[in-house]
Amino acid sequence: MTPSDPAGAELRKLPRADRLLEAADRAGLVRRIGHEAVMAAVREELDRLREAVRAGSPCPEPEVIERDVLGRLEREARGTLRRVVNATGVVVHTNLGRAPLSDETVEAMRQAAGYTTLELDLATGERGDRHVHCEASLCRLTGAEAAAVVNNNAAAVLLALSALCEARPSGDAPLDGPPEVIVSRGQLVEIGGGFRVPDVLRRSGATLVEVGTTNRTYRGDFEDAVGPRTRVLLSVHRSNFRQEGFVHEPSLADLVEVARERDLWVVDDVGSGTLLDTAAFGLGPEPSVPERVRAGADLVTFSGDKLLGGPQAGILCGRREAVRRARRHPLMRALRCDKSTLAGLAATLAHHERGEAAEKIPVWQAISARPEVILARARAWVAALGDPPGVKVVASESAVGGGSLPGVTLPTHALALEAGDPDALLARLRGADPPVIGRIEDGRVLLDPRTVPPGEDPVVVRAVAAALSGG
Ligand SMILES: *Cc1c(COP(=O)(O)O)cnc(C)c1O
Repeated sequence: MTPSDPAGAELRKLPRADRLLEAADRAGLVRRIGHEAVMAAVREELDRLREAVRAGSPCPEPEVIERDVLGRLEREARGTLRRVVNATGVVVHTNLGRAPLSDETVEAMRQAAGYTTLELDLATGERGDRHVHCEASLCRLTGAEAAAVVNNNAAAVLLALSALCEARPSGDAPLDGPPEVIVSRGQLVEIGGGFRVPDVLRRSGATLVEVGTTNRTYRGDFEDAVGPRTRVLLSVHRSNFRQEGFVHEPSLADLVEVARERDLWVVDDVGSGTLLDTAAFGLGPEPSVPERVRAGADLVTFSGDKLLGGPQAGILCGRREAVRRARRHPLMRALRCDKSTLAGLAATLAHHERGEAAEKIPVWQAISARPEVILARARAWVAALGDPPGVKVVASESAVGGGSLPGVTLPTHALALEAGDPDALLARLRGADPPVIGRIEDGRVLLDPRTVPPGEDPVVVRAVAAALSGG
């Protein structure tokens, strides 16, 4: 490159790496993320600029480069897994981590972070069993004889099928050929995030036998399909869609009857599973775990972090013998959950046992929030913003979400931001600290107080004010 080469002259304007390192150090970023991470980011930024300049772009001013590098480092220091304010109005929002936890649940998980009695029996000093910590409470709440906890409901279904396919309820010799699980064609569902019932079934080593049609399946279809290798009748809740019109499924009680007659197991994946009566909260019906246990399913499986409102977990509960088989199956070792999950789940279950779910569990607080309180909060947001033009309160709907109660909404009032490009506004709200997540409806940004804990009202107001002023 000759001195008269314009790109060469521009390249020489690039700041040196150690200058940027010093700036990062002054901003406290070296202390926060470490020397290596800072240097890697600085080198990458300089390489990127060098390439742009060679391609003909002018070199930015040194202050601009420094500001950009520090901005990038600041984002890296914050990490990628961050707290956000959920103003979407979707209560169990999968992308936002499903159920937020109660204060007591968080405290229990914090306490369990150190050494615990995870597998120690204090009375004897002998090795204990991690499954005892939630079992008694789960049994009281669901009416089940026994219960076990794994990492999520997908794991619970996999474990239930793997364990129960090994033998008939009366016990028997190994099969020649894979065991069979019978399921209705109307329940071969995909839940989202890649959970497909047929795929999970295959992983359990079983062969799937589909019966009935998409819209109508009868008890007789199950009876006709039972063969010498059949081990399990499976029922799966259609968590995220609804069938209407000319539809039929046999009842769980019917499946249990067929299973008892033919020496088979019944596994019932209820998805969310609820311990509370959803209808009492103005929601549609969702399978209640106690009812499904009462109907006689050998194993009922459901998530800990959907309508239960606790940490991510999968719960299996039902008959003693079926739970025993699940517990001692080799997959249990791979699917079991850790001490903090068990501690958090126990604390969330305690809210249910004390009958205070609606007051203490954030998911149920949001579901049961009174309409007039939501309206008052939305109005207070507008007032705190100084009632600017293009900002108003509108009637809208919140959803329960997270693969529960499809199509069911709760009436709400939301803050509507009608000025400017909604996508740009939404992006500016995501850029706030903490990020505020809203949604677009009818071409405007909506922020729903239902899913925002009242303590975060000032955070929302600050973020909206900044976003409206272009910040
Ligand atoms: C949500 C859901 C699952 C998956 O549960 P995870 O806890 O996400 O693993 C499985 N089955 C049904 C019916 C569901 O609704």
